[in-house]
Amino acid sequence: MLAAILKHLPDIDTPVLVEDIARRVGITDIRDMTEEGAISGLLVDGANATGIISCSAALSAPRRRFAIAHQLGHFLLKTERDDGPCTARDLSENRRDTPHRKQEAQANRFAAGLLMPKPLMAASLDSLGKPAIAHVAQLAAHYGVTIEAAASRYVDVTPSACAILFIKNSVVHYARASRAFPAMAIHRGDPAPPSVLSDKIDQPTAWIAVEARDWLILSRDVRSPKVSMQLIAKKNGLHLVMLSINAAAERRADEEDEKYATERPSFGRGADRR
Ligand SMILES: [Zn+2]
Repeated sequence: MLAAILKHLPDIDTPVLVEDIARRVGITDIRDMTEEGAISGLLVDGANATGIISCSAALSAPRRRFAIAHQLGHFLLKTERDDGPCTARDLSENRRDTPHRKQEAQANRFAAGLLMPKPLMAASLDSLGKPAIAHVAQLAAHYGVTIEAAASRYVDVTPSACAILFIKNSVVHYARASRAFPAMAIHRGDPAPPSVLSDKIDQPTAWIAVEARDWLILSRDVRSPKVSMQLIAKKNGLHLVMLSINAAAERRADEEDEKYATERPSFGRGADRR
């Protein structure tokens, strides 16, 4: 679906003009909504040919853009929803363990792909170079999305082994990792390891080595990878955290281990290394 839309927009540029795109594919109006607790909703005609999107008037511009893209996802994916407008939780859903969550996660995936098209995002990441926590805010500004949406897309598209976490008052609020990153032991709602600490507001720290077992699920018989952490403290008690693993260095270390093991099959006395 997304590929079909993007094919019609060969010269798509950032920030993606989501309201224009919505109107071109059958959304006839985008209105304010006032319902308590609701962020945005969609009304479709019987044949699902046209629709009206509504958004809470209180949303910031990046949130509003994401909400419109999310509803456009429901509209184009023809999701049959009868459980009312979407909540803030729906707009950050990435679980797929119930039909409702799956629908919301699909709409979010659509929204992320529309607002941060993969070829553009891949080019952005390429030009930014090695992972760094400051990139997340730069990408958010460039694509007109929230920090959270930019972080999700970052780990989705990057070929690097990295993870991004939002930690507020020492509790994990958000944790997502790239495909190349090992399984994390820390999830939303968990207490953060004590190493997450910085008093320099809005300034990225240097990369520091952290204890891999604080963050990752590791079996006892494998060598722990070297995990580095960089973070930015925000005024409101929020810490944006990036974890990174140098995949090439880890591969080399694994190869070394293997070589060493095959070269020394005996239960060594220590000095007989060739
Ligand atoms: Zn929804």
